[in-house]
Amino acid sequence: MPNKILAITMNPSVDISYPIDHLQLDTVNRVSNVTKTAGGKGLNVARVVYQLQEPVSTSGVLGGTIGTFISQQLADIGLQEQFLHIPQESRNCIAILHDDGQQTEVLEAGPTLTADQQVEFMDHFDQLLNEVSLVTISGSLPRGFAVDLYADMVEAAAKKDVKVILDSSGASLAAGISKEHKPLLIKPNQEEIAQLVGRKLNDLADLQHVLLNEEVFGGLEWVVVSLGKDGALAKVGQELYRVTIPKINVVNPVGSGDSTVAGLAVGINRHESVPDVLKTAMTTGMLNTMEKETGHIDPTLFDEYFAKVSVEKI
Ligand code: ADP
Repeated sequence: MPNKILAITMNPSVDISYPIDHLQLDTVNRVSNVTKTAGGKGLNVARVVYQLQEPVSTSGVLGGTIGTFISQQLADIGLQEQFLHIPQESRNCIAILHDDGQQTEVLEAGPTLTADQQVEFMDHFDQLLNEVSLVTISGSLPRGFAVDLYADMVEAAAKKDVKVILDSSGASLAAGISKEHKPLLIKPNQEEIAQLVGRKLNDLADLQHVLLNEEVFGGLEWVVVSLGKDGALAKVGQELYRVTIPKINVVNPVGSGDSTVAGLAVGINRHESVPDVLKTAMTTGMLNTMEKETGHIDPTLFDEYFAKVSVEKI
């Protein structure tokens, strides 16, 4: 039986960061200290899984010179790249860091794909499923792909007994959990839960009620609602678990949801107990917030922080 995690990013990017002391509009701004990194939620997941030394590979679609750059960066860190390569150019996402902590972002939509490319991707994905035990699917869909692509991927995985963790939002998340075959786990934050049930939640008690009673969560084995500094609330089967985490020194919280998904994937792939899966996931989420780099943890701190997470059945 295969024992590898496949992390999917359908619309990866090169994330460019421009630190500029003072951004001036309608004129030239010069920048010297540029960083360019392969970005995308699934790539963050893959990097953290890799840091935890679990077998992992990455897929999705990429193309053009930007695609080549992403591919090369993954090769440089030794991450297996199994993307479908397309003729269209992948995207750049630009973050301008300026004027005492302000962040102005310019995000390209990325390539528009054809219906034929969707079929091609599904064939490609179907092949990859033969080599893996668990798939994580993160982020939004590229333009041109049907909104139920994730639902089709979940179905294809179910037919091969491959577990799926789906971390998306909006229509692709709703479609991804609406069919007969469900992902094993979803990891919405509070905002995404509110979108799914069509209303804002009042408090933790309301969230508990919704998780146990709303039909939309019925067929899902795991729903892990991450709550930022307040840890998480999880429904596993019909049991609820409250996960609490210590107060930590946050350096950069971007990518902590993805790092949490990485921890969930690793814990489940290693057949850890339910409380330990949740602790692993909170630990990777926390460790990511303690690093400057997005989708990155210091694995040497893992045991120390794992021991500080508590899980209580409610
Ligand atoms: P998302 O990025 O998907 O909105 P969260 O913000 O809920 O996800 O963060 C995911 C996990 O990362 C949390 O459950 C927690 O373990 C950790 N985390 C995030 N923000 C903080 C914080 N301010 N302090 C401590 N841990 C955090």
